[in-house]
Amino acid sequence: MRAFLVACLVVLCGWLPAATAQDLSALARLEPAASSITDRGDALEITLSLSQPVPWRVRLADDPRRLVMDFREVDWSTLPDVAQDSRHITAIHAGSFRPGWSRVVMELAAPLVVDQAQMATGQGAIVTLRLLPADEASFAAAAALPEPPDWALPPAADLPPPVLRGAGPLTVVLDPGHGGIDPGAERDGHTEADLMLTFARELKEVLVRDGGFNVVLTREEDVFVPLETRTSIARAAGAHVFLSLHADALAEGEAVGATIYTLADEASDEAARALAERHDRDDLLSGLDLSQQDDLVATVLMDMARTETKPRIDRLAVTLRESISGAGLKMHRHPIQQAGFSVLKSPDIPSVLIELGFLSSASDLERLLDPDWRAAMTAAIRDGLRAWSAQDAALAGLVRGD
Ligand SMILES: [Zn+2]
Repeated sequence: MRAFLVACLVVLCGWLPAATAQDLSALARLEPAASSITDRGDALEITLSLSQPVPWRVRLADDPRRLVMDFREVDWSTLPDVAQDSRHITAIHAGSFRPGWSRVVMELAAPLVVDQAQMATGQGAIVTLRLLPADEASFAAAAALPEPPDWALPPAADLPPPVLRGAGPLTVVLDPGHGGIDPGAERDGHTEADLMLTFARELKEVLVRDGGFNVVLTREEDVFVPLETRTSIARAAGAHVFLSLHADALAEGEAVGATIYTLADEASDEAARALAERHDRDDLLSGLDLSQQDDLVATVLMDMARTETKPRIDRLAVTLRESISGAGLKMHRHPIQQAGFSVLKSPDIPSVLIELGFLSSASDLERLLDPDWRAAMTAAIRDGLRAWSAQDAALAGLVRGD
């Protein structure tokens, strides 16, 4: 195929000049089988195969963040058939925009800038776009490039309904431990249940405000929620990741600092084993029997799912540890531990339990009550989730052989 560059770096030249065939006779068609919208590492890569070359251009727009592509008449009716698995895209709109022109708008979950944009022509035309993550300022600068006359973007409210749902942002389910008749650990009039609800609400706000995350809480108030229901809520929400938040009391030793627990049959030590058992016991005392056995087939299937999920959970624990300790926040001397926490038993949802501190430690309680410390901790968890999700997406691509 003879390839020549129609476009150039959009960040440098803004709107791309209309080029190539001006004598359009037939409507160009999109070939969905040869087109794709996918993540490659951190980058978003878009390939659109058209039946013939057409003039086109691309730009970014803000509020909400969008990638906007205009093409001389293209029939986009096959766009829903294009393989689309990008986490960067939350929705795609397409349709006629003005006489002779069609428009495709992709809503972006986080700031991206255009790294490459080109159309290779031969029998038909292949448009390839590559976008890379950027900070807010770079995105705003790229989106603020001047409009040519008569090409003002319509307000977002005027967009047609999405034709294609993106893989979208990461859905994080936050599980504030305990609640209602089960207050969890208590000290100086403070309960673990209350402290975790406050922390979960603040963490949710940070994750939602800073973009890129959907967040669901397993409880929004001081109510009892059985452990099994917590994992069911995660499943119903389509959770990509599950974080259970606790600040228990440990009688033995001098437990201090944040600890990340992953699920294992073998507990790291006696304290970890006792902690997991206590949570199950609290659950039983609250009236729910978790003792029913899974049948053999279900157990085998769950084991298979766990085998795939296990390395993803291990990486989640490591990236959270790195971002928390990297932010200079106090961690336990064994920052990653294992125990058989029932709430972590979803076989296919990466789940960890974070002991943000221990109420048995006066200094940990002081930190949990300090809004500045909580702000630092919520930011660290956000950064850890972002790092993990980027790494997870890149590795998923490798596994699939992309
Ligand atoms: Zn707890």
